[in-house]
Amino acid sequence: MKKLNPETLCVQAGWTPKKGEPRVLPIYQSTTFKYETSEQMARLFDLEDSGYFYTRLQNPTNDAVAAKIAALEGGVGAMLTSSGQAANFYAVFNICQAGDHFVSSSCIYGGTYNLFGVTMKKLGIEVTFVNPDASDEEIIAAFRPNTKCLFGETISNPTLEVLDIEKFARIAHSQGVPLIVDNTFPTPINCRPFEWGADIVTHSTTKYMDGHATSVGGAVVDSGNFPWEQYADKFPGLCQPDESYHGLTYTQAFGKMAYMTKATAQLMRDLGSIQSPQNAFLLNLGLETLHLRMPQHCKNAQAVAEYLAKNDKVAWVNYSGLEGDKYHALAQKYMPNGSCGVVTFGLKGGRDVAIRFMDSLKLAAIVTHVADARTCVLHPASHTHRQLTDEQLLAAGVRPDLIRFSVGIENAADIIADIEQALG
Ligand SMILES: *Cc1c(COP(=O)(O)O)cnc(C)c1O
Repeated sequence: MKKLNPETLCVQAGWTPKKGEPRVLPIYQSTTFKYETSEQMARLFDLEDSGYFYTRLQNPTNDAVAAKIAALEGGVGAMLTSSGQAANFYAVFNICQAGDHFVSSSCIYGGTYNLFGVTMKKLGIEVTFVNPDASDEEIIAAFRPNTKCLFGETISNPTLEVLDIEKFARIAHSQGVPLIVDNTFPTPINCRPFEWGADIVTHSTTKYMDGHATSVGGAVVDSGNFPWEQYADKFPGLCQPDESYHGLTYTQAFGKMAYMTKATAQLMRDLGSIQSPQNAFLLNLGLETLHLRMPQHCKNAQAVAEYLAKNDKVAWVNYSGLEGDKYHALAQKYMPNGSCGVVTFGLKGGRDVAIRFMDSLKLAAIVTHVADARTCVLHPASHTHRQLTDEQLLAAGVRPDLIRFSVGIENAADIIADIEQALG
């Protein structure tokens, strides 16, 4: 069959029932799977046969949903993780070990910033953060002989910088390392980073993919394009024998699936951050309407951003759909059909006025969440980033007066009316 379009993949990819099987993806609510001979089971443990044996490593419900996400991104394989945090950790840790180093955009989600800068440092893995808008030369200067990857976020949460994916891919490949892109905010409906040279994509599926705020989850997707063997010295974990699997070498045994197989067979086996099949089922329901929800989020966010930009109580607005926005041109290039539903802005009067405004909203709820069907709002300086001083906030690119407004899929006029009464 000819290559299917994203709308069709959202609805149908991943689960293709055969005669008499359920039309809807079943929840394989089982920790374990049965075999007929001891020999059959032994071959699974040696990675000589593929098959399910224990849900900490793989589960059919999860795999069907991961296959849908891989199809949407245009990758060769994917895995679901218990959270977006686990996805980003696995994506990097699969190719970095103690003594290694990697380079990351500084414009990334706060949780990822902590994971990279604090927790991974305790594991002996160092990161250098770079300004994603810096020149090729400045970013290349951060690379070292032991650098193993470059990391960025397509649209950063909460500061909404748009990543120049082609530039980052060019830099990563000139240094012989893969580019990993967190594509949570645009989703593959609005941007497919592999088409611009990224090698690995991650998601917090907690956000638009689930879309209904029911399940925390994540995903790692591999394009299968990075030539690991060309840089075999850099990636011994993929290109040299794995002692925990009788000396099997992933690149030789699994080709384009080497990276995903190692992440499953080694990281899931040992660290165990698998998504529950129940959550994967709910995520799949969300994915079935992702192509309908994303345009509505973008249309509503554009209307909200345009309203805010014209309001004289508003000090500033960031939304790449606004023509004057710093990232308008990059967004037009990478996301011509719209970016995401998140708008950030500041009110005249700063931090105190921001808090009063938020307390006055009726439709938009104050929640620690974003990218949900329901409009919600957060003040990072008072909530997610409250341990930071104003100086540290600015260094992280988060203005103390920044309001993160996640526009849902309700009626835009109703959302704007709520903003208007709260501003009043
Ligand atoms: C929320 C988020 C994460 C973390 O995901 P969780 O599912 O909350 O663990 C990572 N990256 C981005 C861009 C996010 O918005």
